[in-house]
Order: sequence, then C-alpha cells, then structure tokens
Amino acid sequence: MIDQAKPHIPDRRPDTAPGADVMDQGFQDAMVAGEARITAEQALDLWNRMPLTDLGLLADRRCRAIHGDAIRTYVIDRNINYTNVCTAKCTFCAFRRSLGAEDAYTLEYETLLTKVRELVEIGGTQILMQGGMNPELPLDWYVELLGRICSEFPGVHVHAFSPPEFIEFVNFFDPPGATLKEKVHSVMRPLVEAGLDSLPGGGGEIFADAVRRKIGLGKCTAEAWLTVMRVAHELGLNTSATMMFGHIEGVGDRIHHLDMVRRWQDDAIADLAPNGGGRYHAFISWPFQPDNTPLGRVKCWGEGEDDDVEQPFPGDVVGLLDGSGTRELHPLFGRRIRLAGANAYLRTQALSRLYLDNVWSIGSSWVTMGPHIGQVALRFGANDMGSVMMEENVVSSAGTTHCLNEPMICRLIRDAGFMPAQRDNDYRVLKAHFGPSAPDLDVEDWSKFRARSLHQEQPREGEGAGCSSHYGTTSGDASAIVDITVKGN
Ligand code: SF4
Repeated sequence: MIDQAKPHIPDRRPDTAPGADVMDQGFQDAMVAGEARITAEQALDLWNRMPLTDLGLLADRRCRAIHGDAIRTYVIDRNINYTNVCTAKCTFCAFRRSLGAEDAYTLEYETLLTKVRELVEIGGTQILMQGGMNPELPLDWYVELLGRICSEFPGVHVHAFSPPEFIEFVNFFDPPGATLKEKVHSVMRPLVEAGLDSLPGGGGEIFADAVRRKIGLGKCTAEAWLTVMRVAHELGLNTSATMMFGHIEGVGDRIHHLDMVRRWQDDAIADLAPNGGGRYHAFISWPFQPDNTPLGRVKCWGEGEDDDVEQPFPGDVVGLLDGSGTRELHPLFGRRIRLAGANAYLRTQALSRLYLDNVWSIGSSWVTMGPHIGQVALRFGANDMGSVMMEENVVSSAGTTHCLNEPMICRLIRDAGFMPAQRDNDYRVLKAHFGPSAPDLDVEDWSKFRARSLHQEQPREGEGAGCSSHYGTTSGDASAIVDITVKGN
C-alpha cells in the first residue's frame, strides 16, 4: 500500500479577506495556496463574475496544490440498498416505497452477504449501505448484520447509514439520552462496536430550511443532520458530506450549504482532531435527477404562463447566504425548478473545491452526470472519480443509469491527464496503475468495452430498477445505457 500522506490541508484555518476582490490574482493565488479563505459573499461574486473555464482552472490549481499533479483516484465498492421501505416522502425520490407496497423489499442477510462476497471477489474494498427508513427493523437487526459482515469479510470497510437513518433510529428505538445528540450517541455506539466504519453523507440535499421543508418531507433538519455527523466524528469515524442541487434552491442556498459544512468541519478539526476524532473526508455534489419523481413534475422556470424570466429565479430570491430565506419572499418559490446541466454542475463543483478549504477530497459525480462530464470534473477541482459501482438503485430509479467498470474508469482518468489509482475508504492508494498490467493498459480490444456490452439495466425481482456494472466484459443482450468515447477506439 502506498501511504499517500495528506500534508496539504493544515488544521490551521486560513484567514478571510472580506475586502479582497475575487478577480484579483494575488487573492486567487493565496486561495490556491490555502492561505486565504473565501467568504460566502466572495463565493457568490465568483459565481456571478468568473467564466466557467476560469473557475475550473482556479479549482484545478487548488486541487493540484492539495493532491499533486500525478494521481487521481477511484474506489471499488458496492452500493447496497438494504430496504426501500421509508417513512419519509422526499419529493425528489423515486426509490422509496411504503410499508406493505407490492414492490417494497428488505433484503435477507444471506442476500446481503452474497452481495458483499461478490464485491470481494472482484477486489472491492468497501460497501456503501443505505436504505430507506424502515420502522419494522429493530436495532438488533442492524447489529447482527454488521457483526456478520465483519466476521465473514473483515477486510471490507462498512460505510453505512446516513444521518436521516440515524434520526429515524432514534425515533424508532427511543434510545437513552436527554438530548438528540445523546440519543444519537446511544444508538450509534453499538453499531460502531458491531463494525460500522464510517458514515456516508446521504440526505444532505440543501441545508437551508425553506428548501428542506419543501423537498424533504419527513426528513431530518439540517441541524439534526449535522449533529449526527458530529457524533460520528466524536466517536472517531470519518464521514462524507453531500449536496443535491438543481431544483428549487438558489445559488445562495448552495453557498450556505457549503458554509455549514465548512463551519462544522472547522469545529471537528479544532475540537476533536487532537484526540483522534473524525471529520468530513470528502464532499460530493450532484444535480437532482427528475425522472419518476414528484419534484420532477414541477414546472421548470419559464414554463409557467406568468413566469418572467427577466426576473431572478424564485430560488435565488429566497436563497440568502445565511440560510434565513423564507418562502414568503417569492410566491413561486417551490413551484418552479431550475435543473442543473453540465455547466451548472461543473461551476458548483469548482466552487465547492474553493470554498471547502478544510475538506480533503472532492468527488466527481459521473453517476449522475455521465462518464464524460465526470471525467471533465477532474479538471474542475475533483480529485476522485468515486466508485466503480457494482450496483446502484437510487439514482437509477430516477432515470439515470450510468455504469462503468474498472478499465473504463481508469481510462477516463488517464485520458484526463492523470494516473489512475485504486484507493480505500480512507483515501490511501492501494494500487497506482502505471504499468502495462493496469486495468486500462491491459486492454487489447476496446471494442469489447463499448457501452453496449458494458452496461445492463437489471431490474430485479423485489429490488426496483437497478444498474449493475460488470467487472470485465459481458456478452448477451445488454442494453446500451451510456455511450462512452474512448481515445483510439
Ligand atoms: S430520499 Fe431517502 S429518506 Fe427520502 S424518501 Fe427516498 S429513501 Fe426515503
């Protein structure tokens, strides 16, 4: 294992320079070096004034200052959605089912263990396990599941249970504690003892209250979400943070969201790092996927009879930088969406790299944006391509079914100008692929790796629409889901 040291994000937080002009070269250089911290107002200014490619270049410079010029990473993992039964009714979700619904499912232990076994057989190192929030499953169910995974597959990192799940665990199990934080502690500790290694950042969406109330019906508040992560950090677990944008929110909401992550990360580093506490290791953002979702049926801005697109998008009126906007500020707030395409995605990701000066990894979201934009994202501040995913059920339910295997993800990274490297959950490099046996350099005939033979949509009985990416080539009647252009192919 190559020990990829992480010396480039000092625990000392940089000073802000509120009077500095974001277009000033000296200020940008200080930002790139981690010596100046951008404020929320400056971030909005940057968004409004800087052209896309310049913003990408600036984020790329910052990324290179942290991660160097050579390696960009990926992980081999498997998304396991153990149940689709969920008490929440998020308007952007096409995955959830009500208890008792015909296609509701909860996977048996043996099925879950088989999935982990299949992952291990292809060299995978991590499972990302999240569910709906199923009131029928007792705490013992989770403890036993983690225990069995750990005893059968001790080398597999278990990255599982997002903050909304923990808040529902508290509601379902009524653990001891006088405050929410103490209750989360009570329910998280046995899961950590049973083998939980880290927490994924699912359910972050947008933290601003006005947005959250509209899109995350029955889902926890931002404060609760951040509290769960704080507890995880106190217990020594690292976590990731996420943001789902491109719906009813404004750009100000996105910046406020980044600001919340940065603030809580500052506190985690200051309070917990000296004693071995955890922190946010990674941030990943992606645009809302509208298919099959209630939110996707909301009119886009400009489609309503009275929409005046010369005026600001309602979300931008409500989306104040301090998160205090209310729906009363615009009568159409929540009734119009503004989907994010490649430009908005890349700008948002670049901004996240610059704003989150205390977060190590920024992940590309090729799963939602497709392989090519995911690849370009590596030049817009992302250092990590995310996962060679064996399975994904959530965004595929919302109509997005991009899948890649290891040779393809390696080639995408190499074609972006970097050496691909497999990492573990802690972002340590397991294998840097520079020799002829690299997964991509080993391929003699790329025609077998065309999308047509790579990707299979695999609706499985009782699991909803899924998407499986096979290791190596496949044959048969695979359906073409994504067209990948490969250099020299
Ligand atoms: S996004 Fe998650 S919490 Fe919300 S309804 Fe879907 S499964 Fe439930």
